Amino acid sequence: MFSKTIAQLAIGLKKGEFSSCEITQSYLDRINAQDKKYNSYITVTAEQAMQQAKAADTAIAAGNAVTMTGIPIAHKDIFCTKGTRTSAGSKMLDNFIAPYDATLIEKFNAANSVSLGKTNMDEFAMGSSNENSYYGAVTNPWGENRVPGGSSGGSAAAVAAQLAPGATGTDTGGSIRQPCALTNLSGIKPTYGRVSRFGMIAFASSLDQAGPIAKTAEDAAILLNVMAGFDPRDSTSADKPVSDYCASLNQPLAGLKIGLPKEFFSAELNPLVAEQIQAAVKEYQALGAQIKEISLPNTALSIPAYYIIAPAEASSNLSRFDGVRYGHRCESPVDLEDMYKRSRGEGFGAEVKRRILVGTYALSEGFYDAYYKKAQQIRRLIQQDYINALKEVDVIMGPTTPQPAFKIGEKTSDPVEMYMEDIYTLSLNLAGLPGMSIPCGLVDGLPVGLQIIGNYFAEERLLNVAHMFQQATDWHKNTAPGL
Ligand code: GLN
Repeated sequence: MFSKTIAQLAIGLKKGEFSSCEITQSYLDRINAQDKKYNSYITVTAEQAMQQAKAADTAIAAGNAVTMTGIPIAHKDIFCTKGTRTSAGSKMLDNFIAPYDATLIEKFNAANSVSLGKTNMDEFAMGSSNENSYYGAVTNPWGENRVPGGSSGGSAAAVAAQLAPGATGTDTGGSIRQPCALTNLSGIKPTYGRVSRFGMIAFASSLDQAGPIAKTAEDAAILLNVMAGFDPRDSTSADKPVSDYCASLNQPLAGLKIGLPKEFFSAELNPLVAEQIQAAVKEYQALGAQIKEISLPNTALSIPAYYIIAPAEASSNLSRFDGVRYGHRCESPVDLEDMYKRSRGEGFGAEVKRRILVGTYALSEGFYDAYYKKAQQIRRLIQQDYINALKEVDVIMGPTTPQPAFKIGEKTSDPVEMYMEDIYTLSLNLAGLPGMSIPCGLVDGLPVGLQIIGNYFAEERLLNVAHMFQQATDWHKNTAPGL
């Protein structure tokens, strides 16, 4: 049961091999027995899950089922859920119960899927290792003392440990793709604006995008079918028709033009990871693809540009957490200033404070032109690199991360070293493009992710390119040792 994909569970449910109540109860029992090891959930909503499962079983019996009906999944604790705590991994929101559901949650509810609970994450989605959570670090099921990647590390660890068949995540600079790479999963960061951000707690609004984390590309397509679409409540949502992401999964790849950016095979890349990526590219050649070396010359600038723009937007977004309207408030403040200072000082963790300081500085008078404006100009150059490259090739491939999962604590003392982990993922968010990560090998027993990047709104094509690889290889079928 726990090794089944969402696609397989959906078939079993339809055939009556098991009920949603049975699957849901099994997952809840498993979470209860095993999650102490991983710390992948912040909140488990057992009672609500069983109610939703019952409703799903009724819908299935009445012939009102869609693919996701009755399937239990987990949601990153960044999506507002009515009546259940939404913490964003922060002490600041430890007591926050949203009065409404995020659009994404509403969509899963409308499909009658089941929510098992809310997953652990780096505080306000700031991080690359899931060590920045108020609720403690998450452990990668692939190695007891290894990080699962961040910031959607709880969602990835939950799926990799088979504590949920699929999950939602968000990706501001790599937080869907990077944890997928480190835990042998398939995930897609859609084009900016494809999935509604309404009710998704904001980190950097011009970069944030939600997407699925799954065992296979096919499951990612099933989940994206529920999530994608225009939302009038999100002013940056794309008013464009949504494809059926499952419709062309099996389209042959003959003639596919793949670009390999030379900057993605830079000195930072672990040579053993590079070998796995090259082997995956060979597999694509065998499937009929043509390979072309390309250049994205401004790739190295994506880290400095992102680490100005994202903190700048974060400093503005996080100013709402003042201890007045909601969130943590300090004990017995002496005056208003004391309340602001202590509420924010106590409520935010170290990395969030670092970002607020950097962002406020970059936006301040006298420094705005030198930092924020410059970073926006570089952002434009990075986007132009991609636009040029995607005129010549259909998709771009490379590694998702420079190395496999590192050890917990290995990089926490040096934030810049941690930021280097994002070298291959950030540029895509700056450009607003869609990107996937799929399993493509093991190095020292740890998973390696292949990144696949496409043009704006090319999600259907990316999922097809990923699915065909998974029809020809078995990397995605590897599970963490002991499972
Ligand atoms: N690692 C990046 C950061 O810390 C990206 C995080 C994300 O995508 N949410 O900002």
